[in-house]
Amino acid sequence: MQQLIDNYDFKGKKAIVRVDFNVPLNENFEITDDTRIRAAIPTLKKVLAGGGSLIIMSHLGRPKGVDAKFSLKHIVAHVSKCLGVEVKFARDCQKADAEVAALKPGEALLLENLRFYAEEEGKPRGLAEDATDEEKKAAKAKVKESQKEFVKKLASYADCYINDAFGTAHRAHGSTALIAKYFPDDKMFGYLMEGEIKAIDNVLKNAQRPFTAIIGGSKVSSKLAVLENMLEKVDNLIIGGGMGYTFVKAKGGKIGNSLHEDELMPEALSILEKAREKGVNVYLSVQTVVGNEFSNDSPTQTVPADNIPDGWEGMDAGPKSLELWKDVILGSKTLLWNGPVGVFELPNFAKGTLKIAEYLAQATENGAYSLVGGGDSVAAVTQMGFAKKVSYVSTGGGAMLEALEGKDLPGIAAIRE
Ligand code: AMP
Repeated sequence: MQQLIDNYDFKGKKAIVRVDFNVPLNENFEITDDTRIRAAIPTLKKVLAGGGSLIIMSHLGRPKGVDAKFSLKHIVAHVSKCLGVEVKFARDCQKADAEVAALKPGEALLLENLRFYAEEEGKPRGLAEDATDEEKKAAKAKVKESQKEFVKKLASYADCYINDAFGTAHRAHGSTALIAKYFPDDKMFGYLMEGEIKAIDNVLKNAQRPFTAIIGGSKVSSKLAVLENMLEKVDNLIIGGGMGYTFVKAKGGKIGNSLHEDELMPEALSILEKAREKGVNVYLSVQTVVGNEFSNDSPTQTVPADNIPDGWEGMDAGPKSLELWKDVILGSKTLLWNGPVGVFELPNFAKGTLKIAEYLAQATENGAYSLVGGGDSVAAVTQMGFAKKVSYVSTGGGAMLEALEGKDLPGIAAIRE
């Protein structure tokens, strides 16, 4: 049975905690953004304050085997600083018995990168390029077999298991999902996971109406499943950004050189048709700021979104689109934003995305619930200083996207089962 971290008695217990410490490092192995470490600290502190000890585990990067470049030793000092206790380090996540045995209440141990072992992901490594299907199948079966021992070893270190790694919750890996079965009555989510799950439930299960989703970003192909799932949930769907031009073109508009996917035009039309059937209001862009080259210094024009001159491409939402969307956003009680409505990395084309962030902040101040998640809109609200002015900013890109697609995340299911 699933436990709640707030009610669990950690006194004298060893807790193994899966965190997402997959932080960016520069060429001197210094952490350039420690958001993910800071996000896990409340959970880690809770265990220590309750009289338990910590075995912390994570992956870092995509090593193909043991590789010093991806060692978690680079981050031990910073984790110690954030946690306020000296964190010890086990150089091999599968040979940490002695370090684990020596752990006393209030102490913490970080295990070396789980992905130094292929068993963490359960995918074979080092297969010859010309391997036959039979060979691939045999290699997969072999790693799946040894994965059981790998997971069992990790589980043997602890009395309870906490998953606080939302960033990898969409992966059915050893430490994110399979390990949970060794702790049938002692498994729980950490605070970060609890927060993310609550945010997902607030929009997908308990949304107050009207509910509006703002879906932007570059490609329809990467958001198709999200759009389909949103049609089942929302009252209003705002479709902006690069992906919006596929819809405009599918409807017969002239989009110049704008980003689009011709092969997805039938899907775009089918989404619009389904929306009509379900009574979902769809708001496409009506006006666009265009440039004649993909650069910040490009000359610009503001034109109707379905009449973009040849040689020009849509780079940002125009003021008329923003006015239209503003009314929809401010009239909503629940808001979900996924994906920027323009090329926000180029300051001259970031205005539309900034406006959306402002409208969300204003709606939130007026009492609406707002979730920003699963795409570059997270980077946009954070960079633009709006992270604290919306209800929740998700920490997990891929995981949030899959949740918004309506999928069950293995890392969540393993605790709930
Ligand atoms: P995503 O990861 O799907 O949320 O897509 C984010 C990317 O979409 C960002 O890098 C934006 O620059 C890009 N994007 C948004 N609007 C446009 C546009 N009109 N043309 C090209 N790229 C865009």
